[in-house]
Amino acid sequence: MTSTNISEAAYLLASLLFIFGLKRLSSPRTARSGNLVAGIGMALALGGTFILPGMGNFGWIILAIAIGTVPGWLLAKRVKMTAMPQMVSLFNGMGGACAMFISLGEELKWLNGLDGRVGLLPSLREALTQMLPRSFPMLLGIVLGAISFTGSLIAFGKLQGLVSEKPLRWPLQKPINVLVVLGIIGAAVTSAGVISVNYHYALTWIIVLNVLALLLGVLQVLPIGGADMPVVISVLNSCTGLAAAVTGFAMKNMSMIIAGTLVGAAGSLLTVLMCKAMNRSLAKVIFGSFGGTAQGRAAAGASDKSQREIAASECAIMMGYARKVIIIPGYGLAVAQAQHLVHELDELLEKRGVEVKYAIHPVAGRMPGHMNVLLAEADVPYPKLLDMEEINPEFEQADVALIIGANDVVNPAARTDAASPIYGMPILNADKAKNIIVIKRGRGTGFAGIENDLFYNAKTRMLFGDAKKALQELTTEVKAL
Ligand code: NAP
Repeated sequence: MTSTNISEAAYLLASLLFIFGLKRLSSPRTARSGNLVAGIGMALALGGTFILPGMGNFGWIILAIAIGTVPGWLLAKRVKMTAMPQMVSLFNGMGGACAMFISLGEELKWLNGLDGRVGLLPSLREALTQMLPRSFPMLLGIVLGAISFTGSLIAFGKLQGLVSEKPLRWPLQKPINVLVVLGIIGAAVTSAGVISVNYHYALTWIIVLNVLALLLGVLQVLPIGGADMPVVISVLNSCTGLAAAVTGFAMKNMSMIIAGTLVGAAGSLLTVLMCKAMNRSLAKVIFGSFGGTAQGRAAAGASDKSQREIAASECAIMMGYARKVIIIPGYGLAVAQAQHLVHELDELLEKRGVEVKYAIHPVAGRMPGHMNVLLAEADVPYPKLLDMEEINPEFEQADVALIIGANDVVNPAARTDAASPIYGMPILNADKAKNIIVIKRGRGTGFAGIENDLFYNAKTRMLFGDAKKALQELTTEVKAL
């Protein structure tokens, strides 16, 4: 068996492990082991690459792996759950950069091999029908990787507060983007047209193409803001996957093609699901503006209405003697890290014969599946977490809807206020419950930065305070009933 055979077998096994790992990621119960399985797959793919004939520079490669591993490990260990989206975005950008550099390297290697050998300037027809198709996967890898790289860095900056979270606008925005896209196509065709003349001419055009693609990533993501950021991250994720897959084509590397396609397909599916959850079309996310121009009216008469407060002891009575309580977790629960206390409260209530369920909105928190992960960490049984479509019809029978650190996902403006940035987003029907209790620290708005009429509803009572502190008081009071 040659070393090429061994590395191909390693790639095949790695690809199977990626698929198996991804399958296990679909449930919080199996997700950890799924991650581990996919990680083993990646180690195998790396090992397979190491033994490929012609491999060298091992010292440099090991140094590069160490440089990537140490900060990656430390960042992943230290990151707070609430900062996960920007972390994902940063890692995604690194994937895009890898695909870009690998494609660039392959393209330059190919050009170098051609330099001076073709001799004559090819006709436009030859350039388009022979040269361009041969370098097409490499050029596409450079473009997609570059867009993903800078786009993800901007998304990271926005979520980290380094760049304005608001959608940035400037004159002739769309025509400028169209010009940049045309520039990329022009540079690709020109690079193919001048390939045979001189390596350096072609190289110049490929650098132009690369710089324009990097610029396009920035120009595309800067105008997006507000609640569209999670969708953008998901789009960029699929872009990185595609970049890796086409790079795999260019290098004839099966493992890269499979892994890239998996990431691309998973990212695309997630994008579609999130667009559905927010009732947004992908075109509107990418070409429209969200959370920017129309801020929506303040909650009707919010300034002259008042919010009614409630004490933890009263809440405990309401819930302790209820038949059915639906808990709505949101971003604030994650900030307060109060997931274990919610589970404790849930168990106390169940012991008293109260039926407790959790309503999970697909974009609650700051990343897809945020609430599922958070509650799984506290060992809340998975069957108690119900998706929006399943739980919404149950609110009418609920005696209490307990909203903990959630805001936008229960904001009725999404149904009624056409000027609101969240208009059209399906929400949890908390307002249909007989009583509504809201735990939040004060009058802070949610991610979309808008007022919420629900907090002024006649059925709503506010239990002000940090979610952890409020839940501690609540559990103590329920124990004392
Ligand atoms: P939200 O609308 O952001 O509201 C969170 C609320 O929690 C705030 O009003 C805040 O009010 C309260 N809060 C913050 N810290 C708290 C603490 N320590 N204790 C108690 N309350 C606290 O959250 P959401 O309802 O979960 O909605 C998620 C939003 O994020 C949506 O707009 C969604 O589109 C967006 N988004 C989602 C994702 C995703 O993939 N899931 C990613 C990015 C963005 P106070 O300041 O008054 O306490």
